Amino acid sequence: MVNSQFLLGEVNKLEEQIKLLIGLQDCDTRIGDIQTKKQEGPIKIERLTEELKILEDQLEDELNRLEGYKRDRRGAEQEIKELESRIEKSTIKLSNVKSNKEYTAALKEIGDVKREESLLEDRAIEIMEEIEELEAECSSSKAKKEELGEKVERDREEIAKELKALEEDLEILEKERTRFCRTIDEALLRRYDNLRKQKWGLAVSPVIKGVCQTCHMGIPPQKFNELIRGDGLMNCPNCLRIIYWGEDERFKVEAPSP
Ligand SMILES: [Zn+2]
Repeated sequence: MVNSQFLLGEVNKLEEQIKLLIGLQDCDTRIGDIQTKKQEGPIKIERLTEELKILEDQLEDELNRLEGYKRDRRGAEQEIKELESRIEKSTIKLSNVKSNKEYTAALKEIGDVKREESLLEDRAIEIMEEIEELEAECSSSKAKKEELGEKVERDREEIAKELKALEEDLEILEKERTRFCRTIDEALLRRYDNLRKQKWGLAVSPVIKGVCQTCHMGIPPQKFNELIRGDGLMNCPNCLRIIYWGEDERFKVEAPSP
């Protein structure tokens, strides 16, 4: 009688410790999720800022090219003016020629200059077309840049709010964790914390239908029976995590608060 009473006490203690471990694991998993989430916002902003920088560089490049074409256009216009005045002078010369030879030379000169002028005019038209095309590109780039710039600002504000809310949640969970740590057996807590460090944050795993739900390996039937009986705290033979019987109604209830 005394013996079974003692055993019952042990079993209840085990049940309580497992419940606390499940609660602590749940708490730590939520802390981990929040810490991951906290990093997402700044990463997103960094990516958007890089995108914005690329757009700004592209626009700057387009504006520089546009400036270059405009210089070329002014140059071509100036040259055309000079050629026109040369044609004018040659035409005056033509009306004052004294010999056939001079006449032929003056005609040839006018012809040469007119050909040169015609080539320059073609070039000026090409430049104008380039300018029109580039101006359209610039205004589209400007619009894109402004749109993205506004998005970055909006997201930045939103993320700052999100971060604040996450910090608040984190603070609550950290307090909850401290309370769990005070309640759980010290040696068990050390075992849990060491396992958590080695096992990417997951130290406790349910076993359902004889399969560890974290490493997905089956555990030997005899071990599974021991687990169901609740003889003592057990580890998965494969991944070494602390295991409990996941189908046990007692462990399905919401994690207890410490
Ligand atoms: Zn396992």
